[in-house]
Amino acid sequence: MSKVLQNAVKTEAGVEVNGILVQPIDEKCVGCERVCEFEGQQFCTSYPMPAKKWTSGKCNFATHIKVETAAKAKVNPLKASKRAAKGK
Ligand code: SF4
Repeated sequence: MSKVLQNAVKTEAGVEVNGILVQPIDEKCVGCERVCEFEGQQFCTSYPMPAKKWTSGKCNFATHIKVETAAKAKVNPLKASKRAAKGK
């Protein structure tokens, strides 16, 4: 179940949150925990234009995918074992 989009109001221009026009989520957002519902549509709690977050790669706030930077930060097991062997 999605959460409800807080402070959302329906205006002539579309749905606004605190005066900012928000666009419905992109299909790639499906499954993300930041997806909220309002009036039968789904929106992102973090970005007014979710589709833009996906135009240059993966959304860095997505909770349903692995973000590449997290994988890069992984410790190299070989170096880690050498450090452990030296007692550092
Ligand atoms: S955080 Fe990113 S992936 Fe998640 S709903 Fe928002 S735009 Fe979509």
